[in-house]
Amino acid sequence: MDIAFSRLDDTTARFTLSGTSQPFTNALRRSMIGEVPTLAIDEVRIYDNTSALFDEMLAHRLGLIPIRTDLDCYVPQDRCSCEGAGCDRCSVMYTLSVEGPGIVYSRDLIPQDPRAAPAVEGIPIVKLAKDQKVVLEARAILNKGRVHAKWQPTTTCGYKNYPVIDVSEKCDACGRCVDECPRGILVIKGGRVAVSEGRVEECSLCRLCERACLNTGIGEESAISIKSEESRYIFVVEGDGSLPVHAILEEALKYLKSQSDELFEKIGELSGVTGDEEKNE
Ligand code: SF4
Ligand code: SF4
Ligand SMILES: [Zn+2]
Repeated sequence: MDIAFSRLDDTTARFTLSGTSQPFTNALRRSMIGEVPTLAIDEVRIYDNTSALFDEMLAHRLGLIPIRTDLDCYVPQDRCSCEGAGCDRCSVMYTLSVEGPGIVYSRDLIPQDPRAAPAVEGIPIVKLAKDQKVVLEARAILNKGRVHAKWQPTTTCGYKNYPVIDVSEKCDACGRCVDECPRGILVIKGGRVAVSEGRVEECSLCRLCERACLNTGIGEESAISIKSEESRYIFVVEGDGSLPVHAILEEALKYLKSQSDELFEKIGELSGVTGDEEKNE
């Protein structure tokens, strides 16, 4: 399997996976969304709330604020020595006290550990009129997106097959497909339609171009054909700021490896051969 990045920074990754299968590609997507732990607020103690929002709504909004997560500093509660009681290793406390008029923002959440501050400072939580007040304490814990969407580290995580666009000799450069393409990636060049230089990955595989060509009365087969490579995929991942995107990818791959190692060992046990013996062969 090959992986080629066209973009990789803290917030976004765009890469092509080649020589792999759809099930593996989808397992990687699901693993990034649901199996990478992050911090999110899970418990709120409200001392005063005279805003227009119900307490439950306020707590829900707090839960969805992305929190910067240092995975070396925190462990999930079910693996913590406090056995779920809540301690510095498995939870972070926040305080918030704001009086109106004004807007309560995510930056108003003051963390006990500055490394676990909200990832984005300017997320509005609630608007307060004069004399309205919100005073609360909150606790964030580490958990996974498969338990609740608030623990998902990604805002976008998807893939598509790599597009293959062919144009046959039947093309008379009428330009109908060029006008129809919503991505604007087709051009007339050398008496035929062609894909703009370097833009083939932008094709959404919508096949509107094929339909436009058939509508010209060209016959039963359009001059342009859209296919996709079965073993090559374009991935786009955007993080919510809780973890850098490369960390999301690394953690997801570690999870897949641990799952396959476990399966390998189980199969070894069932067949009377240990995983280590198999690996050493
Ligand atoms: S499949 Fe859609 S996006 Fe791709 S070239 Fe045709 S019209 Fe454009
Ligand atoms: S609609 Fe068909 S014939 Fe016209 S430019 Fe496109 S591919 Fe060529
Ligand atoms: Zn603990």
